[in-house]
Amino acid sequence: MVRTDQLTWTEYVEKLEGDPLVFLPVGAHEQHGPHLPMGTDAILATRMAEAVAGRLHGLVLPTLTYGYKSQARSGGGQTFPGTISLDGQTLTAMTQDIIRELARHGVRRLIVLDGHYENQWFLTEGIELAQRELLTSGTQMDIVRTEYWDFCPQHVLDTVFDGNFPGYDLEHAALIETSMMLHWQPELVRLDAIPQDDQAHFEIFDYYPQDGAGVPASGVLAPARGASAAKGQLITDNTVEAIIQALQAKFCDR
Ligand SMILES: [Zn+2]
Repeated sequence: MVRTDQLTWTEYVEKLEGDPLVFLPVGAHEQHGPHLPMGTDAILATRMAEAVAGRLHGLVLPTLTYGYKSQARSGGGQTFPGTISLDGQTLTAMTQDIIRELARHGVRRLIVLDGHYENQWFLTEGIELAQRELLTSGTQMDIVRTEYWDFCPQHVLDTVFDGNFPGYDLEHAALIETSMMLHWQPELVRLDAIPQDDQAHFEIFDYYPQDGAGVPASGVLAPARGASAAKGQLITDNTVEAIIQALQAKFCDR
């Protein structure tokens, strides 16, 4: 795995001759409870991209460390101090701008690896607008957009949650993210601050202006207790492997 921000431009040009998969990790700066750092989504997307790229001789771009607005039912919402979010059009424009530049360099395979649920449609829009632009200039770029958690196998979720997986919506600063952080960046986890809150319960609609209704005071949407580095390793190893297999199947000459 090579990070582009540590290459010279001449080394970068040489690397592109091998037509590598180029990874763009995307995260957020968002409250993750009293026990995880606000950069958790960015950190996990980065580590995931680095792990996958390392096995596929890929390049990793600098992470987009800000994301679209936190929503109450998936990230606790915008009422927390510390959460710094972008307007959708900003994230869309950044995505489009980066793709345009990569196309100019000759990048032909891009993996946009998202670690913050709320980003997905604005990343998608940036990709769509960029593709429209590239098509008019006759430039081809294969782009994959994915949220890494979709690759975590069911048998791993069954093991980690003992058959009681609450669903990804509520997996905010909860057992999965806490375990992954304990595996990859344990020095950033405040173990003694893991809250004892139970699972959040929400209305089945979103309300604006956001008022934080239903969001536990801790900002954690499902129990994080029971998280461990061992569970984190089980999750990350299996997820990395599944992403690699999917990318190899899509780009079968890798
Ligand atoms: Zn998160």
